[in-house]
Amino acid sequence: MFCDIDPLTHNIDPEQIEKMITPRTSGIIGVHTWGRPCDIDALELIARRRNLQLVFDAAHAFGCTYKGKPIGSFGRCEVFSFHATKFFNSFEGGAVLTHDNELANKMRLMRNFGFQGYDNVIYLGTNGKMTEVCAAMGLTSLESADEFIETNRRNYLLYQKNLETVPGVKLLSYDDAERKNYHYIVGEIDETETGLTASEIVQVLSAENVLARRYFSPGCHRMEPYRSFFPHADLMLPQTERLCKRVIVLPNGNSVDESVISRICNIIRLATANTAVVRAALKNETAKPSVSSVIASRSGRGA
Ligand SMILES: *Cc1c(COP(=O)(O)O)cnc(C)c1O
Repeated sequence: MFCDIDPLTHNIDPEQIEKMITPRTSGIIGVHTWGRPCDIDALELIARRRNLQLVFDAAHAFGCTYKGKPIGSFGRCEVFSFHATKFFNSFEGGAVLTHDNELANKMRLMRNFGFQGYDNVIYLGTNGKMTEVCAAMGLTSLESADEFIETNRRNYLLYQKNLETVPGVKLLSYDDAERKNYHYIVGEIDETETGLTASEIVQVLSAENVLARRYFSPGCHRMEPYRSFFPHADLMLPQTERLCKRVIVLPNGNSVDESVISRICNIIRLATANTAVVRAALKNETAKPSVSSVIASRSGRGA
């Protein structure tokens, strides 16, 4: 079952959890979306009271803290992704962190076909071993982690400054008191102010060769197998549904600098100031021209 989110944090809403618990519920999975930690204290309280396991999807949260303690140390376990798109990357891979020795031993067995010693399988397993090249990539990512955080932070602040004056585009903020990786530059689009949807803004950026993304759109409750299991899940997820339509994630990392950010933000500014022209250009399926050139030619203003 999917539980709705808190629209302010984009994380699981503790207030919505208990009504989702059924006799078949065995645990709660919280996702630290965008690296901003869940309300872990509240989740621990519910898990303890209802005798449920508590597990965290920490795929976004490498290098982040909750009340000053590193993500990775909470719940029964926390699961990190080291995929190439994540802040900490080893091409492919991930890690499960736990304080529970028994669970750790089981997972070590599962990683290597359930082998205990030579030719002796004692547990269910798969091939989940990390290769040496992936480990080597992970080591270089580790060496550069602080530098990447600094670059991401600089970029985040530049985006914030550039987008401050664009009505209807609100950047998600990060908690000053916590450590974070600033990997995701998350914008929420209020169509009533921008005149364009998040989807249209992403299309405009794409036409300008800027790869912005709409994450979690559609939400995974709208994909198989969940769609068939819970065809009416959306009725329980109004905040999720609303947010999926509003989120855009802007480019970040080493290959983005002040001039690139200024260009990206100008495209957004220009597009949202010329919505009628932009919508017409986006409808032109046959020859999709660069939207800024269309605006420039019609309004005499350059990008
Ligand atoms: C990337 C991601 C995953 C999956 O990570 P893999 O390493 O591809 O298994 C899970 N949850 C979230 C929130 C993610 O962003």
